[in-house]
Amino acid sequence: MSEFIAIDGPAGSGKSSVSKAVARTLGYGYLDTGAAYRALAWHVLNSGADTGDVDAVLAAASAFDLRLGLDPDDRTVAIGDIDITETIREPRVSDAVSGVARVPAVREQVNIFFRSLVATSPYPAVVVEGRDITTVVAPDAPVRILLTAAPEVRAARRAGELASENAAVVAEALHKRDASDSAVVDFLNAAEGVEVVDSTDLDFPQTIDAVLAVIERKQGAENAR
Ligand code: C5P
Repeated sequence: MSEFIAIDGPAGSGKSSVSKAVARTLGYGYLDTGAAYRALAWHVLNSGADTGDVDAVLAAASAFDLRLGLDPDDRTVAIGDIDITETIREPRVSDAVSGVARVPAVREQVNIFFRSLVATSPYPAVVVEGRDITTVVAPDAPVRILLTAAPEVRAARRAGELASENAAVVAEALHKRDASDSAVVDFLNAAEGVEVVDSTDLDFPQTIDAVLAVIERKQGAENAR
């Protein structure tokens, strides 16, 4: 049974790239829980249904053959035989995903899926990143981290990733999504026992090092018990 390395944070905090790099460095698995919510949003959109329609979302979630692996070097996301690795990053999916993620029954269902993926994984541990991993999915994880960054830094990073997008449009979409997401789970404030890593003034390698330092310290403390 693998253990959880739980990492939460808002969009643009560097969570995905940092979590992936940390998993690679330590030989751990990596689980991008946002990709599951994005895949579900894509699935609802693709069926022509409205992502704001709870019944349609629940129906889509019950017939959802999601393929999401734990290999940090293979980020393929598929539904059945359809590869949606790239399409789930499109702005139309980003705009729709909060509506899907707001449905409590959907969250319960995907949480069961996440826990079983980790439980049956061949890795010693899995770096699981999302919004509610430290608080809901794995509140007892030995390592729980909240990765934050100032809003303007997050918007600038996200705009840099989506080269074709206008920076102001990206910033507005990101803040809108944060506001809507944080009404469902609080990922802007650390819960008790959760370590904050603020990457506002850190570059990518420094952020990785900061997260690795927390993991090492927490695992050391756990082993000393
Ligand atoms: O991390 P990413 O930005 O790809 O997440 C996409 C969306 O999935 C978030 O905006 C949020 O609505 C939802 N999500 C969530 N809980 C998680 C991970 C993602 O609600 N644990």
